[in-house]
Amino acid sequence: MKYYDKLIFEVSRPGRTGFSLPRNPWHSHTAQLPEHLKRNTPTLLPEVSEPDVVRHYTNLSNMNFGVDTGFYPLGSCTMKYNPKINEEMAALQTFKSLHPLQPDKTTQGALELYYELNRTLSQITGMAECTLNPFAGAHGELTGLMIIRQYHLKRGDTERTKIIVPDSAHGTNPASAAVCGLQVVEVNSSTDGTIDIESLKSVLDHTVAGIMMTNPNTLGLFETHILEIAQLVHDCGGLLYYDGANMNPLLGKCRPGDMGFDVLHLNLHKTFSTPHGGGGPGSGAVGVAAHLTDYLPNPRVVKLADGTFATENNPEAAGQVSSFLGNYGVLMRAYTYILTLGKENIRMAGPLATLNANYIKESLKQHYKLPILGVCKHEFVFDGLLDNPNNLTTLDVAKRLLDYGYHAPTIYFPLLFHQSIMIEPTETESKETIDEFINIMKVIAEEARTSPETLQHAPHHTPVRRLDETTAAKTPILTFEELTNVTQ
Ligand SMILES: *Cc1c(COP(=O)(O)O)cnc(C)c1O
Repeated sequence: MKYYDKLIFEVSRPGRTGFSLPRNPWHSHTAQLPEHLKRNTPTLLPEVSEPDVVRHYTNLSNMNFGVDTGFYPLGSCTMKYNPKINEEMAALQTFKSLHPLQPDKTTQGALELYYELNRTLSQITGMAECTLNPFAGAHGELTGLMIIRQYHLKRGDTERTKIIVPDSAHGTNPASAAVCGLQVVEVNSSTDGTIDIESLKSVLDHTVAGIMMTNPNTLGLFETHILEIAQLVHDCGGLLYYDGANMNPLLGKCRPGDMGFDVLHLNLHKTFSTPHGGGGPGSGAVGVAAHLTDYLPNPRVVKLADGTFATENNPEAAGQVSSFLGNYGVLMRAYTYILTLGKENIRMAGPLATLNANYIKESLKQHYKLPILGVCKHEFVFDGLLDNPNNLTTLDVAKRLLDYGYHAPTIYFPLLFHQSIMIEPTETESKETIDEFINIMKVIAEEARTSPETLQHAPHHTPVRRLDETTAAKTPILTFEELTNVTQ
């Protein structure tokens, strides 16, 4: 083990420091802490030099995989490259140092940005108005469902407690519905991967609050019957919820509002370029059609008659879902992203994401099982290896990709197939990067035939090998003592 592969506590030497503090500006005056607030034991912080600290964090970051490290084809996630100018804007001191409790008249610029982003997102999605307060996609789903529930309750329609969710839906959809107290009713996909209309018709009645859908759906397929679906659900008194977490295939091309959706959420941290993953800060902006704007959560940002901006609360609101105006830094990144591309270029995102996905799909379908043929949108699903004499699994393929320096695609989701490999290249990758990935996927398919044990024991070159993922997630080793106990 190299010296700097050790834990920072193992590198620690008593008395070693990596900093020099400025001279105490209050000279000899030392504050007197009350006895009961003083520590009884030393802090047990590592004592290291500055290079030790720099190497520690740099090496840690190299053990991780991010979209800045390499190609990250995770499906249903839009792990796209996020332009660095977004970070610069989000770090602007004038915005960063604002306090959420400052009076509105001192935060006009920040409120104006919120207002303008709200209007822009409303235009992009065909909605009347948005809230940018929710902190994540799933949080947006919950907010949207609270709005739907509020809408029915305000009309005295108390029996609408069911929400329809297709079997291909993202897992957060049924989870959010359950958190909102709604009962989930599943509808099946037909053999072409889109919603089965007959299955939908059989569950439509006066107890349906709405349907949650994503279009293109999780298989990357456009729901061509969307207008008919909208008509059916509206005729029975329900509302349509659109999961727009990954809206990049549609950006500037077509709008959920025009398809008949009443409520939607966007993941600004996917479609509108903020780094995400690992539970980092996100934004699940929620848009609603005109008949639902009253129920948007508080606080809201409004433009007053004199052209200034203010925050306000509406008594009709479906509640309040965050302490202030959401994850503001994420909003700044989204706004910067939209303005940098502009109306003309944002239209290119969808076609490029679609082209890249179809190019990979067509290039690899001789090697991986393609259960649903035809043109996809921004992502698609393989069902494991095509020629597979050694019975290798999707997990083996995914682990082997790590050895070649790629993040694995989404695996074993959607649940419609047993060996799902879901690939979403996004619009930001070059043809060269995509060709390299295709090539490696072919190499792995060949290895699966000729040296199956290479795949079965992969990964070979990562900091840790094949983990027991359940134990790693449920009982992670988080302290130095625990680790020394394990390694002894
Ligand atoms: C990522 C995603 C979500 C959930 O978003 P979070 O920010 O992770 O809560 C919901 N739906 C779809 C389709 C997604 O891809």
